[in-house]
Amino acid sequence: ARTPVNVTVTGAAGQIGYALLFRIASGQLLGPDTPVKLRLLEIPQAVKAAEGTAMELADAAFPLLSGVDIFDDPTKAFAGANVALLVGARPRTAGMERGDLLQANGGIFKPQGAAINAGAADDIKVLVVGNPANTNALIAQTNAPDVPAERFTAMTRLDHNRALSQLSAKLGVGVADIKKLTIWGNHSATQYPDVFHAEVAGKPAADQVDEKWLADEFIPTVAKRGAAIIAARGASSAASAASAAIDHVYTWVNGTAAGDWTSMAIPSDGSYGVPAGLISSFPVVTKDGAYEIVQGLELNEFSRTRIDASVAELAEERDAIRSLGLV
Ligand code: NDP
Repeated sequence: ARTPVNVTVTGAAGQIGYALLFRIASGQLLGPDTPVKLRLLEIPQAVKAAEGTAMELADAAFPLLSGVDIFDDPTKAFAGANVALLVGARPRTAGMERGDLLQANGGIFKPQGAAINAGAADDIKVLVVGNPANTNALIAQTNAPDVPAERFTAMTRLDHNRALSQLSAKLGVGVADIKKLTIWGNHSATQYPDVFHAEVAGKPAADQVDEKWLADEFIPTVAKRGAAIIAARGASSAASAASAAIDHVYTWVNGTAAGDWTSMAIPSDGSYGVPAGLISSFPVVTKDGAYEIVQGLELNEFSRTRIDASVAELAEERDAIRSLGLV
């Protein structure tokens, strides 16, 4: 039998955690041949709820689940972690300024970065889901100086999947018929879902939609989907966010399909004019557990303007966490 992979999940007692843990334990994160050991991190008040979820995990009798441990100390939770899913975060509440939000999240992601630095496994891969995800990832990454920066990523796969779903509905095709869609920038309302390099059954997607639909329907629908779900469901999206987190890590570990790519927020190397170091979403291909930015795409004016706006927002967030002394 293979040695279990240690998967640390923070915010394990939350809504996303509840949907995520069962899919990890069933083998959907790493594949049907890989046993997993779950290490759950929660704040002390939520440890009891996490214990309840652990009881349910036991009751599901997943053959691949080789154990569940629960912690309220990040140093312990990240010890030996091969994969870390950072879901727990401080949500923005009414009247909260951006500085307060970043400060509160600094208090979470700074010690978590330090704990990953201190004790995670050499092959650690980190996905930040908790918002503001890109900047939280930057805080953790900066506080883990001995871990290669590229191991810190943030999730734009839900935006990517939402864009696939919207485009497939518009064109009356299956999601699997659409390739090479990209989310650029920040996981926020400024994100830019780009169809200009996308292909539908091998033909350019942009030929089948007009710019007015892109600007007035597609982009705002994808960017505001989270709010639409809250309005309908009375609660944030959780299962779809968990599903996208599974997709993100599965693709990172197992590779993108030939002739396709995915979207991941990763530390920029300066490609496409995105300042190096910002954790911004790019088109990436993955292979053998590593990713590379897809190079050489031409960006039209429509795309350039929107990418620049989202990247400018990321730069402002980075400047704010610098002035707060978080990085
Ligand atoms: P959720 O599980 O619903 O959400 C967790 C985080 O994911 C939030 O920051 C949320 O951001 C973010 N998120 C990213 N994408 C999405 C999406 N598409 N839809 C919804 N959320 C998204 O939050 P809960 O409040 O249910 O649970 C959070 C848990 O985290 C609690 O149990 C809490 O105790 C725990 N926690 C743990 C910490 C730790 O382990 N150290 C630290 C802080 C909290 P947004 O709010 O912007 O939607």
